[in-house]
Amino acid sequence: MKRTFKPVTVVGGGLAGAEAAWQLAERGISVHLYEMRPDTKTPAHSTSLLSEIVCSNSFGGEKTTTPAGILKKELKILNSLLIQCAEATKVPAGNALAVDRDLFAKMVTDKISSHSKIKVMRKEIVEIPASPVIIATGPLTSSDFAEQLKNKVGESLLYFYDAVAPIITTESIDKDCSFRANRYGDTGDYINCPMDKETYHAFWESLVNAESAPRHSFEIEEMRHFERCLPVEVIAKRGEQTLLFGPLRPVGFSMTNNSEETPFAVVQLRQDNEEGTLYNMVGFQTNLKWGEQERVFRMIPALKNAEFVRKGVMHRNLFVCAPKVLDNSLRLNGEESFFLAGQITGVEGYVESISMGMAAAVFMYAHLEGLEMPVFPKETAIGSLINYLNTATPDTFQPMNVNLGIFPKLPGKKIYKRALRCEAYAERSIEHMNKFIEDNSCLFP
Ligand SMILES: Cc1cc2nc3c(=O)[nH]c(=O)nc-3n(C[C@H](O)[C@H](O)[C@H](O)COP(=O)(O)OP(=O)(O)OC[C@H]3O[C@@H](n4cnc5c(N)ncnc54)[C@H](O)[C@@H]3O)c2cc1C
Repeated sequence: MKRTFKPVTVVGGGLAGAEAAWQLAERGISVHLYEMRPDTKTPAHSTSLLSEIVCSNSFGGEKTTTPAGILKKELKILNSLLIQCAEATKVPAGNALAVDRDLFAKMVTDKISSHSKIKVMRKEIVEIPASPVIIATGPLTSSDFAEQLKNKVGESLLYFYDAVAPIITTESIDKDCSFRANRYGDTGDYINCPMDKETYHAFWESLVNAESAPRHSFEIEEMRHFERCLPVEVIAKRGEQTLLFGPLRPVGFSMTNNSEETPFAVVQLRQDNEEGTLYNMVGFQTNLKWGEQERVFRMIPALKNAEFVRKGVMHRNLFVCAPKVLDNSLRLNGEESFFLAGQITGVEGYVESISMGMAAAVFMYAHLEGLEMPVFPKETAIGSLINYLNTATPDTFQPMNVNLGIFPKLPGKKIYKRALRCEAYAERSIEHMNKFIEDNSCLFP
């Protein structure tokens, strides 16, 4: 006889919440998915679509020669809805999986809204809901709900600061001052905006002296940034050369349109929508005042007439101190049926958040079925991320993206070439993931 369960409440229809809802629904579990947009907004989302991605449109490396590629491969093996939607809406971006953000979010929204087991409710949750529940409210959790979470986990609710990069129209980019190429690649997916030494110096001077947006009174004096999301002006203030070894590094280009000379600095623009009418500024997350963004970024010769359709903004990002409050099933310590998913668990990144939606759904399903909680093998990217969440040092805990450092070392001699080393990790991870699915076949119907 088929067992019936109380519907699972999923709070937050972002990347993790949508994946978790879909995975449960596909296993026959009814889901009530609460999304507060469009009535209650976040500082970064701009649509009412589920799984809207708020900054870069890239999901990172596609091949298993990168850790992000390994994680995607595992998600594909696990039948991730969001990776399927990303692949169906991809735009050219070299070896990365980048998407048309609107088409991607529309596709996820349609799939989720038309699933017979999922009821989407447009409502901000302000009280902790009754179990069974998965909390996937993300880094921009609404403030009332964040207060409730704080009451539940106390000082273990943490935050850091993050910023979004501007998007510009393609037609406003000066073709004569830019060239198409991929770093170390043979296709021309990116638009590159070179600067000579003198122009770069003037740009850098203006950038470090430009005015930042004022902070809200609730924000603390000392801004805690996540290193990977540093605003471009903060990186620039570390020294005139710093950007030249970061987002503006002029390496990996064999030629430019007009010259054989290697540029002194290069700003890269990545296609942002399927039609190719929008491009985003790679690595240009910023908290400058909007007028200052226009003034300073238009000093880049190819962008002198740039039309900005979205300006950069900065936000506070919430996450829990996972090693203190989560067990190895992403469940709050001491709770039977209260799981977290997505970035709030303490992972960082789009695909990492999706993977924590996937894992939370598998754990919730095991719990509802009264099965032993599965343990994702540490050799897999998902298992490594969860292991990191459980075993990191609580006092210095920071959100983690997927990287080879969190996997157990490969036996045998070190493979020096990074791509080959990654492929060796990928081979092992896929083997363990397949075995895990086989051993837990009732969780993967
Ligand atoms: C500004 C910003 C830029 C980022 N840029 C990148 C990037 O470029 N690349 C990258 O890999 N990662 C980036 N991240 C990090 C992270 O990957 C994304 O935030 C990702 O979307 C997290 O997925 P999630 O499902 O945990 O949260 P989200 O995708 O944010 O989904 C959470 C959802 O919950 C809803 N919600 C919040 N509170 C409530 C409530 N009380 N009731 C009901 N609904 C609620 C929100 O409206 C939202 O739709 C960025 C994060 C931020 C904040």
